[in-house]
Amino acid sequence: MTRIAIIGGGISGLSAALRVHELATEQGRDVRITLLEASDRLGGVLRTERIGEYLVEHAADMWITNKPEATRLCEKLGLAERLIPTNAQFRKSLVLRDGKAHPVPEGFQLMVPEQAWPMLRSPLLSWRGKLRLLAEAFVRSRRDGADESLSDFVRRRCGHEVFERLVQPLVGGIYTANPEKLSLKATLPRFIEMERQHGSLIRAALRQSRDRSRGEASGTSGARYGLFVSLPNGIEELVSALSRRVAEFAEIRYGAPVRRVVWTPTSDRSDEGGQATFTLDADVTQHFDAVILAVPSFVAANVLADGCPTLSAELNRIEYASTVVVASGHKLADIEHPLDAFGLVIPHIERRKLLAVSFTSRKFSGRAPDGRVLLRTFIGGALQPELCHLDDAAIVDLVRRELRELLGVRGEPDFLNIFRHTRAMPQYHVGHLDLVARIQAATKQSPGLVLAGNFLTGVGIPDSIASGESAAEKVMKG
Ligand SMILES: Cc1cc2nc3c(=O)[nH]c(=O)nc-3n(C[C@H](O)[C@H](O)[C@H](O)COP(=O)(O)OP(=O)(O)OC[C@H]3O[C@@H](n4cnc5c(N)ncnc54)[C@H](O)[C@@H]3O)c2cc1C
Repeated sequence: MTRIAIIGGGISGLSAALRVHELATEQGRDVRITLLEASDRLGGVLRTERIGEYLVEHAADMWITNKPEATRLCEKLGLAERLIPTNAQFRKSLVLRDGKAHPVPEGFQLMVPEQAWPMLRSPLLSWRGKLRLLAEAFVRSRRDGADESLSDFVRRRCGHEVFERLVQPLVGGIYTANPEKLSLKATLPRFIEMERQHGSLIRAALRQSRDRSRGEASGTSGARYGLFVSLPNGIEELVSALSRRVAEFAEIRYGAPVRRVVWTPTSDRSDEGGQATFTLDADVTQHFDAVILAVPSFVAANVLADGCPTLSAELNRIEYASTVVVASGHKLADIEHPLDAFGLVIPHIERRKLLAVSFTSRKFSGRAPDGRVLLRTFIGGALQPELCHLDDAAIVDLVRRELRELLGVRGEPDFLNIFRHTRAMPQYHVGHLDLVARIQAATKQSPGLVLAGNFLTGVGIPDSIASGESAAEKVMKG
């Protein structure tokens, strides 16, 4: 019998558990899985709550389908028929300029205008900014494959204004990151590839739209919002179905924060595997044949500090940002702005306190009662970390004041809840892929010990699932 411990019951750990079980079944092996979760529930940051007739997400509210893992997991769990697309009526984002919300020009894909006319008419850029963006087609390309920050790349190719007025709020918002440090290679490598292959993002976009009009497949086609889905009862539906499934074959221990993992090879030849000794909170020591650590990297670093100091030191290099999500329910009649979009992002240069406001009930129906709207306001992130330390009363004041000034939100909300996500967003800084390679190399020194989580090769739900599944495959190969 092989005993496998999975530490951390977020989506990464749960996906790892399911994949280990599938492989054990396929291989006809007797594998006992123990999942150790520090808190009293599974799902990690993913959580959906009903507040009256509102359906409120604490963290993620949708996932992208061009990475197949989350949708494939839903198929396995019998949820495929329940997937819901985003509401086509409101599929656009707004960006603030000089205190006013304007739509992102149609066809503008994170940093590339696929259509010239909407971009030329948009008040989000000055004429100088627009001309500089069009000149992107003639900027000399860099083909050395070196990593570069998002801001360096965009300033070099598209100009300063496009960076600070559009790309910083649109992309920086996704990663709650400082774009001066964010690695393009680790987050949006397709833009590097577009530059490498076509010499220009605009030329690449034109080529792709020509291919599309000829009916050929394209990697970056269509409105990106069309690629996102959720479930009628929110992300929790996926977490609950997966947790129920895992409970059928694994022993799940709640309230079991693992403090220390020591890896002892069974022989001098480290590639022959080993045994892990765990010290749990209550000083319980247990032995396992393999371990999947599916916790944030700073937790993994702590747990491994004694047993694997080199690996621990590399894991500690990954920085995290915090964010606070304020969910609030309002009467539509209390809001001046028509909220005819999925949300508003706010450039740092506007000097506001908010990062973004998601018009959550515009994305998916069934999130708010008739005549009401559910907003989720984001503050903090890597650029304004101090705001995450404000107390609840100060956060409520700040959010209500800014919502009033930016969108004309008045009156008493039906509810207002604060969800703090402290050190929840791993920061993929320039050089992240090299750091991950060093982490993976250091992990190999302890065969049977494998890492999973959103700090490795992608921050989204599908990436986290992929990391859990890949960890399971490594463990079952060993
Ligand atoms: C505010 C916010 C919004 C987001 N929005 C989106 C979105 O819209 N779409 C999208 O695709 N992604 C989104 N993400 C990202 C995505 O939700 C996460 O990357 C993913 O859920 C991380 O899963 P995980 O299992 O790796 O980590 P976690 O969810 O952090 O799970 C780790 C688990 O380990 C447990 N644990 C910690 N320490 C120990 C220990 N010592 N012993 C045992 N257990 C321990 C924790 O309690 C937790 O349950 C968002 C994230 C945040 C924070």
